[in-house]
Amino acid sequence: MKIYLSTDFEGTSGIVAWEQAIEGNPEYAHGRALLTAEVNAAIEGAREGGATEIVVNDAHHNMRNLRADELTGEATLISGRHKPLYMMEGLDGSFDGVFFVSYHGSIGAPAAILSHTYNPHTIHTVRVNGHIAGESALNALVAAHYKVPILLVTGDGVTVEEAAWFAPSAERVTVKEGIGRFAARNLHPQVARRLIGEGAARAIARLSDGASLPAIERPARVEIEFLTADMAELALAIAGVTRTEARTVVMDDDDTLSLYKRFVAIILLTRGLFD
Ligand SMILES: [Zn+2]
Repeated sequence: MKIYLSTDFEGTSGIVAWEQAIEGNPEYAHGRALLTAEVNAAIEGAREGGATEIVVNDAHHNMRNLRADELTGEATLISGRHKPLYMMEGLDGSFDGVFFVSYHGSIGAPAAILSHTYNPHTIHTVRVNGHIAGESALNALVAAHYKVPILLVTGDGVTVEEAAWFAPSAERVTVKEGIGRFAARNLHPQVARRLIGEGAARAIARLSDGASLPAIERPARVEIEFLTADMAELALAIAGVTRTEARTVVMDDDDTLSLYKRFVAIILLTRGLFD
């Protein structure tokens, strides 16, 4: 049984500031250790539940937050940037389930700790099929394409809420509650790790009853509202993108992998327009 684990960073218990999550800051070493322990808790839970192979994709910032020799469970590590499938690099139809670990809420959500949706300097709001979408819902487009169920989502309370519509049967583990964008009430890390491990084991155990695929109807629609009109203008260079308002574009497609790839292309393309 193969499990694919995509990990971010901001949804770890104890993390409330960029300085803890971005390389080059004194606090980063501690942040990285907290993250690694939560990822390992998910791996251990998956192993206990019966997973035989785990592939971890480090999907935060420079994507070198995890160290291969610090991962438990003989997990494979996908590390470094750039990756064509970005936060979902390495997923394909051979996997039995997807874990999202240490995810955070969308840029528009109230009291979402360290909220952003891929790029806080360009993206104001994203909607997938009309729902305000964070990285989790966008990444679910890839899981939907490969027909792999999302089994576990961990992070702050907002993240767990945001996963309800597209992963209703996933185990969802809240490790902290945001008070504002840079403050949260954190579970003790040992408690967070225990809950993540138990959630992972339950998620795998439930697989035998048949887990549901991401609930994303097709054709799917991705709507992106940017910070500036220039960004929307530039996004029109991507096939199938149409502009609905000065700062807003949409894409509709049955092919959810193509939608995700074009979203990633738009993120990379518009990066240079932030002043
Ligand atoms: Zn993120």
